[in-house]
Amino acid sequence: MRCLACRYELPGHGAITSEDPQGVAPGDFEVRVCPGCGGGTTLPLVGAEELAKYYPQAYGPHSRQGASGPLARAAMAARLRTRLFRRLRRVVASRGGDGGRPSLLDVGSGSGDLGSVLTGQGWRVVGLEPSAAACELARRRGVETREGTLETAELPEASFDAVVFHHSLEHVPDPVDALRAARSLLRPGGAAAIAVPNFDSRQRRRLGSNWWALDLPRHRFHFSFRALHAALERSGLESTWLRPTASVLGPAASAQQRRSGRMEMSGGRFLAGYGAALVTYPLRWALAEALGDGEFIAAIATPRAGGISDEA
Ligand SMILES: [Zn+2]
Repeated sequence: MRCLACRYELPGHGAITSEDPQGVAPGDFEVRVCPGCGGGTTLPLVGAEELAKYYPQAYGPHSRQGASGPLARAAMAARLRTRLFRRLRRVVASRGGDGGRPSLLDVGSGSGDLGSVLTGQGWRVVGLEPSAAACELARRRGVETREGTLETAELPEASFDAVVFHHSLEHVPDPVDALRAARSLLRPGGAAAIAVPNFDSRQRRRLGSNWWALDLPRHRFHFSFRALHAALERSGLESTWLRPTASVLGPAASAQQRRSGRMEMSGGRFLAGYGAALVTYPLRWALAEALGDGEFIAAIATPRAGGISDEA
């Protein structure tokens, strides 16, 4: 069995074993850590159909319940005013273009949280989302959304100025396939923006299977910096900017998971922790910048001149 990012042979046993902290998928899941790139592959490997069964009805990004309340809206707004999207806008603007609104595909767009903010920032947004219920919610908020995945959507080549994987690349069955599809959807001078959990982070090392952003088995691949580099390279992309960054929700969600063994984004203690996490976010963001260690990785990538590298 090979690493999904770099194709290095994986070890015969998992470094982390966990049940589903959201209590949906039965059984144990494991993460095998690649000796080549430090990325983690979730086992067992599954296809899109099985994967769809792993999502609870009230999955936060698909619904307006639980963690999608007013606090989550505030957290999302804070997250989206980060440098990732400002930088994406600059990269896309620098290629010139026709002067119209730049077009952006939001892969794994959920109920349109990101899309509605980016629309307000001047993008023409198309969401792509496999959950029918989430698509319906997004459309009601005025975000154009296609039901499906990069594999099924049959979007025309070279039709977007930007393709965004905002906490979705870790959810797809094969991240390199997804990045290759994204590359083919980009117009000349376009760019991909990526945000994923950071498997290299101190939080992940300290918390192990209680780290909230592990979220087995929905997270299929766990990116280290090297793993993201490898996946981009094999997709014919290269990162022009790549940073560790703090998460808003992390401290509250991991504390809750340590207390109960479950990811339950509700209850008084969670909400108090969430409020504290929002207040401390600017400080944690600055610390992540200064120390080069945060729970997320943010990256901008552009098509590489040499194209897609060959693989085993
Ligand atoms: Zn690897």
